[in-house]
Amino acid sequence: MRESGEIEMTDTHDDIANMDIAVDLEDARAYELARMRHSAAHLMAEAVLEIFPDARLGIGPAIEHGFYYDFDLPRPLTPDDLAEIERRMAANREKAEPFVREVVTREEALRIFGENPYKVELIEGLPADEIITTYQQGEFLDLCRGPHVPSTGEIGPFKLLSIAGAYWRGDEKRPMLQRIYGTAWPTQDELDAHLTRLEEAQRRDHRRLGRELDLFSVNEEIGPGLILWHPKGAMIRYLVEQFEQKEQLARGYDLVYTPHIASEKIYRTSGHLETDRENMYSPMSIEEVDYYLKPMNCPGHIMIYKNRVHSYRDLPIRLAELGTVYRYERSGTLHGMLRVRGFTQDDSHIFCTPEQVVDEAGGVIDLAMHMADVFGYEFQSYLATRPEKSIGDAEVWERATEDLRRAMEIRGLSYKIDEGGGAFYGPKIDIKWVDALGREWTGPTIQVDFNLPERFDVNYIAEDGERHRVAMIHRTLLGSMERFVGGLVEHYAGAFPLWLAPVQAAIIPITDEQIDFAHDVARRLIDAGLRIDVNDRRDRMQAKIREAQLQKIPYMLVIGKREAAEDAVAVRLRNGRDLGAMPVGAFLEMALPRVEARSLHLDDVEEAAAREAGLALVS
Ligand SMILES: [Zn+2]
Ligand SMILES: [Zn+2]
Repeated sequence: MRESGEIEMTDTHDDIANMDIAVDLEDARAYELARMRHSAAHLMAEAVLEIFPDARLGIGPAIEHGFYYDFDLPRPLTPDDLAEIERRMAANREKAEPFVREVVTREEALRIFGENPYKVELIEGLPADEIITTYQQGEFLDLCRGPHVPSTGEIGPFKLLSIAGAYWRGDEKRPMLQRIYGTAWPTQDELDAHLTRLEEAQRRDHRRLGRELDLFSVNEEIGPGLILWHPKGAMIRYLVEQFEQKEQLARGYDLVYTPHIASEKIYRTSGHLETDRENMYSPMSIEEVDYYLKPMNCPGHIMIYKNRVHSYRDLPIRLAELGTVYRYERSGTLHGMLRVRGFTQDDSHIFCTPEQVVDEAGGVIDLAMHMADVFGYEFQSYLATRPEKSIGDAEVWERATEDLRRAMEIRGLSYKIDEGGGAFYGPKIDIKWVDALGREWTGPTIQVDFNLPERFDVNYIAEDGERHRVAMIHRTLLGSMERFVGGLVEHYAGAFPLWLAPVQAAIIPITDEQIDFAHDVARRLIDAGLRIDVNDRRDRMQAKIREAQLQKIPYMLVIGKREAAEDAVAVRLRNGRDLGAMPVGAFLEMALPRVEARSLHLDDVEEAAAREAGLALVS
């Protein structure tokens, strides 16, 4: 239900009435853009009313990169409608009608909008002391807090993008309205650039590529928001997990496993039943005790830590688990692999002394930087500080925030401050992956926790022989495997680097005479550790090459009479480049070191070109 290409996982703006513009008012450009875009939403609503005089209007806020408006209409909209609405919008913009603001009483507002139950509900929801205003341009009058540009003539170049269903107020029990998304920019160049970005984002959409490359599916009979990993998607995940587990073991982590369900007792102690109940699923009763699907892995790790007494000499203890958790997400917010109901976190909890926090956070940063390098992401770091609603002494907050700051500064990591962005129980470092399109994705988080060690009474015996409160850090690097792999699909546009490609080479015999040799080559390559597909179906060679390219298989190894006679393969890359015939041994010498090094490139030429372009991406 979101504008394609918009990846931030913020909630849809369903709960924001159209009198609100959801941006940081400190940021002048963002403010002006939002004001202009929200004005474009009025321009759009005016055009829709011209076509459908009985349309009932919901809300029409500005959003990141554009705007939308929700309508209750007598029939479903078609793409032709969008073209007609755009045409009318352009004509009305030409008139440069001023946006006229008027203050009305609640009674007047109810009288003006009394025919429209949505607006009536909005009006009735306004606080008693609210100044209620309307805005009018031409014939069109809307309930609105504003602000608006002075006249429709000042609305920049725009484009309507899509139609989607949207429940009134985001509530699936309320009527479904039709939402039209649009985008508007100060200049035509900016609009064109944005549309190109959107097209590119659509080309890379992990849901589309996930289907085309047979990576995953969501099955309505299994249930929405629950991912089925197909063999090729599962191979990618397996490789990512293997890589990460190995890195963790080398860096002093211990692997653990904890159950998918736990009794209500633990979630009472942890506080989840008080603070996160709405994100948890209904309990199941086992011998009269309520059990819940786990929404987090922390309590299990804490119980492992607490299973015996630890001295300061044991610390730090770093427990890591690929922990599968289940959280309730409204069906309207589910989105492919990016927003799901069950997911596996690469979760870890570090138990250490307060003195060790700087080093431990630093160790996580090192691993995060290594991950960014391996997967070819740029990144942007944030230090999230104390929010208004929070627990713990100012002193404790200051110290932990300072520890995280130092961990970043020691590593020369530049960061922005996310003022008040910490959790109620402690500050954190957020590192966002910046993908090939410049979009930020949730990446590593390093979170100090003052809450759970208190609630669970988690201690260690210090040098003084006394019990001291342990320092606890929650940490994920990739976040959830679902979201991370979905993100990788978009980052690489499905063309995975060699080490991650589910099939690394397709062997293509030209005629049936080469089939035996093709299987012989496949056996040798598989023995050498490569993942190989032999395409011995009855198809023309060109069609097989085309198919392998569509599947984004890194290497195509074509085998004709001559290759079979000379124990050779003719190598093509998925980008279309032809490397010519080479002995099977020479192909292995080219490919294997690239797998080993997790290279992002398929051969030296590609690597040099990428270096020149300053890009770390595969073709
Ligand atoms: Zn407005
Ligand atoms: Zn945790």
